[in-house]
Amino acid sequence: MNFLEMKILKEGQVKSDTVLMADNFLNHRLDIDLLEQLGQEFYRRFAGEKITKILTIESSGIAIAYPVAKAFGVPLIFAKKDPSPNLDGETYVAEVPSFTQGKLDRVILAKKFLSPEDRVLIIDDFLANGCAVQSLISIVDSAEAEVVGLGIAIEKGFQEGGHRIRNLGYRLESIAIVDSMNPVTGTITFR
Ligand code: 5GP
Repeated sequence: MNFLEMKILKEGQVKSDTVLMADNFLNHRLDIDLLEQLGQEFYRRFAGEKITKILTIESSGIAIAYPVAKAFGVPLIFAKKDPSPNLDGETYVAEVPSFTQGKLDRVILAKKFLSPEDRVLIIDDFLANGCAVQSLISIVDSAEAEVVGLGIAIEKGFQEGGHRIRNLGYRLESIAIVDSMNPVTGTITFR
């Protein structure tokens, strides 16, 4: 069992059949040592890929993407949710159904922050149905840059996102893959 799986067992909470709470360490209170470990782990897995930018989506992706960007020594950029008061110039826009709030969001990135030479590593906290990362892939495609890979802290393997993204041919690395969870007993099993 790896460090993140141990943390999930200790401090994660199964809120429903599909929602795992990680507010104690990832989504509300941040465990800085754990985030740094995640940064190092993603660096270990994607080192050698000549990554030039880390891309995530606000807000909870930012905390994980920060130590990853630091480890690679490259800029971190994040897609903003529309409307955003402080956006300047031309933008790339993608639509994403929100998993946690059940509505449709538009996400935006200023064009000046991505160019066709970029080799992008996409980072996010959770992977469920894959809509959030697909919106990020579509932004990278719009910029004619390359998605080198995707790094996810917690993939819920019983939802379709992982399958969908891997089937599209992308390299997807998840540190913990939850295969099943039970809101009655609180049991969580990993792949
Ligand atoms: P997807 O777009 O893959 O369906 O959902 C991914 C996004 O929804 C993530 O960025 C994350 O913020 C949120 N999310 C999905 N599932 C969970 C979950 O079980 N727990 C938490 N805390 N967030 C989730």
